[in-house]
Amino acid sequence: MTAVRAASDPAALPAGFLEQLDRRIGPRGWSVESGQLALHAAEQWGAWRGRAAVLLRPATTAEVAAVLELCHGHGLPVVPQGGNTGLVGAGVPDDSGRLAVLSLARLNRIREIDPLNDTVTAEAGCVLEAVQNAALEVDRLFPLSLGAQGSCQIGGNLSSNAGGVNVLRYGMARALVLGLEVVLADGRVWDGLRALRKDNTGYDLKQLFIGAEGTLGVITAAVLRLLPLPRERQTAWLALASPRAALELLALFRGRLGETVSSFELLEGECVELVLRYLPGARAPLARRAPWYVLAEVAWSLAEGLGPQLEQVLEDALRRGLIQDGAVAASEAQRKALWALRENPTEAMAHEGVVLRHDIAVPVSRVPDLIERAGGELGRAVPGVRIMPFGHLGDGNIHYNLLQPAAMPGEAFYARRDEVQRLVFDVVEALGGSISAEHGIGRLKRAELTRRKPAIEVALMRRLKTTLDPKGILNPGAVI
Ligand SMILES: Cc1cc2nc3c(=O)[nH]c(=O)nc-3n(C[C@H](O)[C@H](O)[C@H](O)COP(=O)(O)OP(=O)(O)OC[C@H]3O[C@@H](n4cnc5c(N)ncnc54)[C@H](O)[C@@H]3O)c2cc1C
Repeated sequence: MTAVRAASDPAALPAGFLEQLDRRIGPRGWSVESGQLALHAAEQWGAWRGRAAVLLRPATTAEVAAVLELCHGHGLPVVPQGGNTGLVGAGVPDDSGRLAVLSLARLNRIREIDPLNDTVTAEAGCVLEAVQNAALEVDRLFPLSLGAQGSCQIGGNLSSNAGGVNVLRYGMARALVLGLEVVLADGRVWDGLRALRKDNTGYDLKQLFIGAEGTLGVITAAVLRLLPLPRERQTAWLALASPRAALELLALFRGRLGETVSSFELLEGECVELVLRYLPGARAPLARRAPWYVLAEVAWSLAEGLGPQLEQVLEDALRRGLIQDGAVAASEAQRKALWALRENPTEAMAHEGVVLRHDIAVPVSRVPDLIERAGGELGRAVPGVRIMPFGHLGDGNIHYNLLQPAAMPGEAFYARRDEVQRLVFDVVEALGGSISAEHGIGRLKRAELTRRKPAIEVALMRRLKTTLDPKGILNPGAVI
């Protein structure tokens, strides 16, 4: 992390660059105003801050192509940026002051929506919520859903292969894409905007750019899958003794309620207490406190009948001792209140001190092992550390958050972040897991990626990078 010192440094730009830029995309298409540079050089939610040489704001694919051709010609490195909610430092420049930020925010049109083909063609800068709403207007669901959906953009979602709360049922962002339009590092445009569910004509190139965090090309538009709109939805808040009980409960849900299970979220009890303390208006759904909670959601396209099915499963779970107590939302307001408890642990924890976060995944069946093993080792290494995991149990993805011990100053805890991260990642690796489940690698985990992936995988990644971006101008310093 570095302090913000954003102001345009003309020496960072090649001679004549701004004049050529202005001729290509006009004065609305760029800025070197210090306030704008500062805004786009820092993560709005996260801790990463850098310095930008220039802000590029093209409004069309042709303008993105013109900008990249110019940057490529001058060897000027570019960081693509969507809604800037990424949290791993991938969408902001480093502190060299040499990088341009390429904002996709002005490419924000829904180009086409086809309810008979169940597809929407959206430009990269469309905010996720706008795409969800466009789908609703034609009675369809775009199922990607995450806490930052009012700010993050489709281009950023695809470039980070976002996950969110519906992965259990609908898959990651990757699973929702049929076609892509991409501008390559040298400004050439690949029009792969196919709206096909079957297309076995060679390599599936779009998959290369999804999850590439802006290092292989700039996504300008995508054809996205739409799904049938659920008509009935039931949301339950359940109290449990342990992650093992939650895992058994998940198996019961999957066995009895099948594909209707769309979210299955696990929360450690103390982090829920913090949300109740710090989130204005938050209320405990159950009378008694529990060590762990599950927020489970089931939904289907029929109008009614799911409620009684869920009730039977919950009665069975109670009889078997898998749950201690539970409540089912009786209104949309109650449902939202339950989801607010799930969406705010990180913010609530920050009120109490320094938080070290880890976005990790293991096979679903190993989540209890992860929590037990990592918890044991951390307790010995950092006595008093407050371990508050929560996340998408149904996908094996846990946000493994640690709060500073009450007796340790925040700076001292933060100073041990590398040691703590190494310990957590070692457990993840031993369980066959991943050190980045959904937020990506960015600048945050680059060294760990090369350390932990097989050498042949890293070599293949490097070869792909140099093939698609031989001058290395796309998001240098991120991923690889
Ligand atoms: C409150 C909160 C909750 C979150 N919850 C989740 C969650 O549940 N699941 C999850 O997966 N993530 C979550 N995130 C992380 C973040 O929202 C996602 O990673 C999101 O997909 C990022 O989108 P963005 O538009 O903000 O991308 P940015 O942060 O702007 O960029 C992300 C990466 O994509 C690249 N990029 C952006 N646009 C393009 C483009 N058009 N072409 C090429 N590269 C591009 C950037 O260079 C960067 O590498 C959360 C974040 C917050 C703040």
